[in-house]
Amino acid sequence: MKSRYEAVIGLEVHAQMTTATKIFCGCSTAFGAPPNSHTCPVCLGLPGALPVLNRKVVEFAIRAGLASRCTIAPRSVFARKNYFYPDLPKGYQISQYELPICIGGHLEIETKEGARKTIGITRIHMEEDAGKLIHPGEGSGYSHVDLNRAGIPLLEIVSEPDMRSADEAVAYLRKLHQTVVYLGICDGNLEEGSFRCDANVSVRLQGAARFGTRAELKNINSFRFVKQAIEYEIERQIDLVECGGTVVQETRLFDSVSGVTRSMRSKEEAHDYRYFPDPDLVPVIVSAEWIDEVRTALPELPEAKIDRFTTALNLSRQDAELLAADRALADYFEACVAVHNNPKGCANWVMGEVLRGLNESGLSVAACPLTPENLGGMVARIDDGTISGKIAKTVFQEMWDSGKSADRIIEEKGLRQVTDSGAIEGIVDEIIAANAEQAAQYRAGKEKVFGFFVGQVMKASKGKANPQAVNDILRHKLAQG
Ligand code: ADP
Ligand code: MG
Ligand code: ZN
Repeated sequence: MKSRYEAVIGLEVHAQMTTATKIFCGCSTAFGAPPNSHTCPVCLGLPGALPVLNRKVVEFAIRAGLASRCTIAPRSVFARKNYFYPDLPKGYQISQYELPICIGGHLEIETKEGARKTIGITRIHMEEDAGKLIHPGEGSGYSHVDLNRAGIPLLEIVSEPDMRSADEAVAYLRKLHQTVVYLGICDGNLEEGSFRCDANVSVRLQGAARFGTRAELKNINSFRFVKQAIEYEIERQIDLVECGGTVVQETRLFDSVSGVTRSMRSKEEAHDYRYFPDPDLVPVIVSAEWIDEVRTALPELPEAKIDRFTTALNLSRQDAELLAADRALADYFEACVAVHNNPKGCANWVMGEVLRGLNESGLSVAACPLTPENLGGMVARIDDGTISGKIAKTVFQEMWDSGKSADRIIEEKGLRQVTDSGAIEGIVDEIIAANAEQAAQYRAGKEKVFGFFVGQVMKASKGKANPQAVNDILRHKLAQG
């Protein structure tokens, strides 16, 4: 049954930039250092310390803006967002408000039904992260504060309320995640909090002109939880409205254990923050030349890669999409093709055995023990007939385990395929002689027995006989009988 209600969803995403140093000081952004070791007067918020903007952060913001078709503002301004929190020693966060660096872009997603849909991007702005509170445990009576994270650069990417289901929200989030990772501006690690999502959700009657009141679901750290949290929240709001209640504007937390959202606090309005331009920082001026420079240096994005893989390399759209989904995997595949120009052959091994091996060992593409050069070398040996596809499985595993090249393994283990018909004929004669009964059955029309003979000959050759030659010679000899 089609619901009388329609959901409206807008996402705010915080993506942590992969710059080496923080946004307004020279402290390291590395994860996992001893508490408060990556701090200085600026990021500790000591009085009198002055922030200096990290140029790389601006460049990264421009990259994100260009990739999402935003307008890059020639002049943008940092503002103070005032609030009290123990992990925010200055009493304000430096962010952008009225004049953000990027405005008015969009990303394209594919809906569940396979249609394309454009999701608007309202704005992208630069800001600093706050520190982190650590609570030693119930009853301890105190908390720790770690300010290593204070001042780490973030991009906040705010979408238009264009999504109408949890699935669309997840599709947009995945697209955005893929984009920032491709751009090399964010490591995309959701567990470590490098990519965090707040989901704004409201419901309204189908066809209603105005949006309903939204609730904001804070800091959801996996794609699966985003889907669960939004679906739960839509149901909750519909039930509430159906029972004559009203949705209040508030911030809610998703509890991934129980699968429900709970009210955390009433939602602040912008005026609560008393935003004003930060007097310590000059406006950010971005020249047209700089934008061009960044545009020229943009890496190839997934859409373009998929197009090139299907046209120049002749892959199917499905294969191209799978390989391009992950930039590291796409690079691996291309390094393989650079060694041996058989895109389809290389793609099959990468999408099959390589992904399987990585999955089983829980490794990322970057940590793959088998180099793409060695894999390309192996596919070349299949294509030139040195080894069969079957023996290749053995070579593959050996390359994976030992790091040796295919050629070396083929030599050391004597895996070279036997194509010499004299040698194969000898084996075929022996097998037919030893299995006279089956040979008679074959000649009497029992075609199925042929497979048995192929198996026996392959086994006798330790898998090294060329399968095509075995087939041909067997047919010929069995027919003679
Ligand atoms: P705030 O910082 O107060 O949350 P923002 O303007 O930064 O406000 O973000 C608002 C987010 O909420 C945007 O992603 C926007 O698309 C979304 N949004 C606004 N109104 C609604 C609504 N009625 N229902 C769902 N989402 C909404
Ligand atoms: Mg918000
Ligand atoms: Zn610092």
